[in-house]
Amino acid sequence: MKNPLTLPGIEISTEKEDLICYSFDASYAEESMPYAVAWPRNTDEVVRIIKYANENSLNVIPRGAGTGMAGASVPVGADCIILSFEKMRKILDIDTKNLTVVVEPGVINANLQKELQHLGFLYPPDPASMNICTIGGNVATNAGGPRAIKYGVTRDYVMAIEAVLPDCSIINTGGMTQKRAVGYDLKNLLVGSEGTLAISTKIRLKMLPLPEDVITLLMLFNNIESSGTAVSKIISSKIIPRTIEFLDRSSIAAVENYKPTGLPTDVEALLLIELDGYPLTIKKEAERIMDICRSLKGEAIVAEDDFARERLWEARRSVSPAIASMDKRKINEDIVVPRDRITSILRELKKLSEESGIQIISFGHAGDGNIHVNIMVDKDNNEEYFKGMELVKKIFEITVSLNGTISGEHGIGLTKKPYIGMEIKERELELMRDIKKLFDPKGIMNPGKIFNTHQSLHSNE
Ligand SMILES: Cc1cc2nc3c(=O)[nH]c(=O)nc-3n(C[C@H](O)[C@H](O)[C@H](O)COP(=O)(O)OP(=O)(O)OC[C@H]3O[C@@H](n4cnc5c(N)ncnc54)[C@H](O)[C@@H]3O)c2cc1C
Repeated sequence: MKNPLTLPGIEISTEKEDLICYSFDASYAEESMPYAVAWPRNTDEVVRIIKYANENSLNVIPRGAGTGMAGASVPVGADCIILSFEKMRKILDIDTKNLTVVVEPGVINANLQKELQHLGFLYPPDPASMNICTIGGNVATNAGGPRAIKYGVTRDYVMAIEAVLPDCSIINTGGMTQKRAVGYDLKNLLVGSEGTLAISTKIRLKMLPLPEDVITLLMLFNNIESSGTAVSKIISSKIIPRTIEFLDRSSIAAVENYKPTGLPTDVEALLLIELDGYPLTIKKEAERIMDICRSLKGEAIVAEDDFARERLWEARRSVSPAIASMDKRKINEDIVVPRDRITSILRELKKLSEESGIQIISFGHAGDGNIHVNIMVDKDNNEEYFKGMELVKKIFEITVSLNGTISGEHGIGLTKKPYIGMEIKERELELMRDIKKLFDPKGIMNPGKIFNTHQSLHSNE
């Protein structure tokens, strides 16, 4: 029997209706109720909650907005306190001299984007979930987004992190300078660690000047392989657009059924391409890209104004919810292949779908070679679900054989844990487990995620 949960001044609930909201994430893969949920308002409260967890044999799970696609913020076992950062949403400092910004972890990505844009700055990482997801979650998953092709991912923008460790100590890792070569890079170790090592309570990020101009192009193809070839040809022609997003025919249909935005539904694939920079330069680049598209018998359309551009992005951001709203269970993966292998992987996915009779819907950040593969199985048919899971394994095998990776941005969490050994060899995994033990000897920090480590003292694993 646990002690009654009382931490004076800290907002905490053990009410069932609150706990249910924190029992799952956007992966919908697992569901498990936490023991309690806490909403700290500052670093000191985070420390007090972790101290309480240590004293009362509880585990701690940091949580942003729960948009994670791998179950990384879902409780494992009933002895977990969720630390939700909804009350830590302040942008603390915008330093326009050094082009940095300091935020609390609960700041919503899109709110930061808007705030900086008003001042003429750009924070490039733009996950399609940006209207909901938090910077703390983005850092913990090393989130990418459409603009990663040109600007990189969250890791490329994190300069420093204030983090609370499982033993309640606070570290400030990284700094204010653009360069740093002092000791091991713990800051970058925390990025992408899925809340298994420490809790970020303040984050300093780089920002960039807003580009002068943007051109948005929609390219339509009657052949899915031509869209893959177009991506390779654009990149090899030495143009780096800021986005090259790909939607297959089924993704387009899903969007138009869910929230019609006027996308053509009679094409096999589309690419949403955006260029930014100096007006004359990007105009020339746009012309070259349109030539490539026409040479592959595609049709190219230029978004005429901000309204048309925003509508296209609204369509792109609706793809994932649109597929989720279909009357099927989706098994959602996030593979990446080298960019010159996109056509190969699209061909393989088509073959697997035809052979298995299971629909596979693909879309994603084709400019990075990152394809979100959605295996659509019957909701009430367990046999089909297992067939779908067999497909996951085959897709990962093909991806690794093409020198790709099984996750570009969603992470490993719970859902991809069985497959991590396909890509990371045993000695490297051993080092990772040792790092986990060093940070978290009692195993209280987001247990059961990424890999099975040592037995947690509180033993949920
Ligand atoms: C519609 C949709 C579109 C998406 N598109 C993209 C995309 O384009 N690119 C992309 O990368 N991802 C995408 N995702 C996945 C997801 O949005 C990202 O993984 C995002 O970074 C998660 O942020 P979150 O705030 O929701 O974190 P959560 O899901 O709440 O948590 C994710 C992980 O972060 C940890 N965490 C959260 N806060 C902290 C903290 N303060 N300290 C330590 N650990 C913490 C959690 O424990 C967990 O391990 C998408 C998801 C959806 C639903």
